[in-house]
Amino acid sequence: MTGKLENKIAIVTGASSGIGEATAIALAAEGAKVVIAARRGDRLAALAKRITENGGAALPIVTDVTDETQANNLIHKTNAELGRVDILVNNAGVALTGNIAGGNTADWRRMFDVNVFGVLYTTHAVLPIFQAQGSGHIVNISSVAGRIARAGVGIYNATKWGVNAISEALRQEVLKDNIRVTVIEPGLVETEINNHVTDPVAKKNVEERLKAITPLQSEDIANAIAYAVTQPPHVNVNEILIRPTQQER
Ligand code: NDP
Repeated sequence: MTGKLENKIAIVTGASSGIGEATAIALAAEGAKVVIAARRGDRLAALAKRITENGGAALPIVTDVTDETQANNLIHKTNAELGRVDILVNNAGVALTGNIAGGNTADWRRMFDVNVFGVLYTTHAVLPIFQAQGSGHIVNISSVAGRIARAGVGIYNATKWGVNAISEALRQEVLKDNIRVTVIEPGLVETEINNHVTDPVAKKNVEERLKAITPLQSEDIANAIAYAVTQPPHVNVNEILIRPTQQER
């Protein structure tokens, strides 16, 4: 498929649903070969079929990003099979919100494991490849929650604050290697992320927030990611904050 990303290899984590799935479709439509990663292999296989039927190229690699060995395998298998890596979209994430007092500590650990360590493991594995190539682009999906703390969201806030800090520090560290780092901060997006919330009060809160406004769709965020990764090599879109029009904070 021809487009601005022809001959580029893009890895998207969390591609089995929501923003990651829409991003894989958008980058494939721009001509990238997309490597799609998540734990649900059936969803990845269906997405790969859809992309291929539309004239694109997709390679599914079942990956749990919280497992360092699997995260390494995702990057090294991509490089071995497709010859290079140009773009890594660190999108896999969970939002197991709830108050800190009485909070579910297993949920806290899972959020840090997926949202922070998941980003770090893939990043750590891909950087030597980018440095050897003299180019590469990392896109980290943070959140409005990485900028504004709210009651009932504190630990998710902490993980996304972490993503923002890691992204900015990394940008400064690797700019000399011609490596770009972009952080994307969506507001409310209608996806299945909220189905996994275990705390009933937090679940009700987010359902009410989603009903009160017209939320973003995954494609809105995919378009922003496609914009960032299709700029000329001397342009690094550092940060994109996108809220639904009616979202106040
Ligand atoms: P979804 O729940 O639709 O997608 C999350 C994706 O992450 C799924 O593909 C899931 O796949 C994957 N994932 C979860 N755990 C792991 C893991 N251990 N290893 C590999 N993949 C994993 O939610 P969204 O599309 O909304 O979320 C995508 C990103 O956007 C997240 O980082 C989220 O924090 C962020 N975001 C979302 C917002 C929203 O309102 N929806 C707002 C701001 C940011 P599988 O279960 O198959 O592994």
